[in-house]
Amino acid sequence: MNAFEVIKSKAVVNYGRDPHSVEVREVETPSLKYDEVLVEVKSVGVCGSDVHQWESTHSWGVNYPVVLGHEFAGIIHSLGEGVEDWKVGDSIVSETAAIIDKNSPMTKIGLYNLDPSRKGFGYGVNGAMTKYVAVPARCLHRIPETLSFDIACMTEPCCVAYNAVVINADINPGDRVIVIGPGTIGILCAIMAKLRGAEVAVVGLESDRKRLTIAETYGCTAIIEDALEWALKVDGMGADCIVDAAGASITLKKALDWVRPNGQIVKVGWGPQPLNFSLDPLVQKNVRLQGSFSHNWLVWEKVIKLLSSGQLDVERLIGGVWAIQNWEEAFIKMKDGEVVKSIIKP
Ligand SMILES: [Zn+2]
Repeated sequence: MNAFEVIKSKAVVNYGRDPHSVEVREVETPSLKYDEVLVEVKSVGVCGSDVHQWESTHSWGVNYPVVLGHEFAGIIHSLGEGVEDWKVGDSIVSETAAIIDKNSPMTKIGLYNLDPSRKGFGYGVNGAMTKYVAVPARCLHRIPETLSFDIACMTEPCCVAYNAVVINADINPGDRVIVIGPGTIGILCAIMAKLRGAEVAVVGLESDRKRLTIAETYGCTAIIEDALEWALKVDGMGADCIVDAAGASITLKKALDWVRPNGQIVKVGWGPQPLNFSLDPLVQKNVRLQGSFSHNWLVWEKVIKLLSSGQLDVERLIGGVWAIQNWEEAFIKMKDGEVVKSIIKP
């Protein structure tokens, strides 16, 4: 292209705080900063957080207007100044922490995902629901050619689940685990708990039937609403671990009912509502309550290995693939729980 020609591509843009302030716009190809690469996006997953921003039910700050999308896989289209060890054409997935403070004490110990100044793709900086996205080279991970882009773009939610269940929880073979919420993260947490050797139940609402049936194909028990009986079944004490992956605060109350004394609750689902119940059972039962947020480099490498080897099989979670102009249908299917994961092709 010559210097005066501006290449534009279609992008799913969230342009304001009002509900449904999302539309397809033509955006310019981003220019690269030092140590960035331009990624040509091949597949991008719709995250619950994209749907929340669309409906304006999110609880985090957004830099409007912003291109949505942080779950993506693609190939390197061009290299910015200073980029080493990468070449045009490499197949990659990208972490989500687009901006971090490299001098933050959290970054220095490798937990840059917990750096308070962290800004991610799709809310802090332009994301991947478009043809080209600028990515800092430190975010990149190589993927094998045998891994399809549709599967690879699910690396990110798998990393959320791995961090919650493998890093932040202590789950051992023979443990009994209840996952609350059969969204993408909930089902992936259930699969991870199975990989850890646990017996797993996934709890949802009547309207979650479709997604619960998918959880069953992974050997999980599907439960509508009340898991108390399952929790108490073996020795009357409750489940060893509850993973709360629902997007509501009230489920923590259920988790406290179902967890065994000295057990643990890992909370990975967000909920802006304040609690209106006592946390005394947490004290009385001597329960550990653990938050889990995002992921870091090692988690990405582990998940890529699991996806590449087939140990982690997420193909049946993909409920459909949509062209970028049909983004709204992809979002609605996720919102209505009709599919576990929608994928968009830019
Ligand atoms: Zn996500």
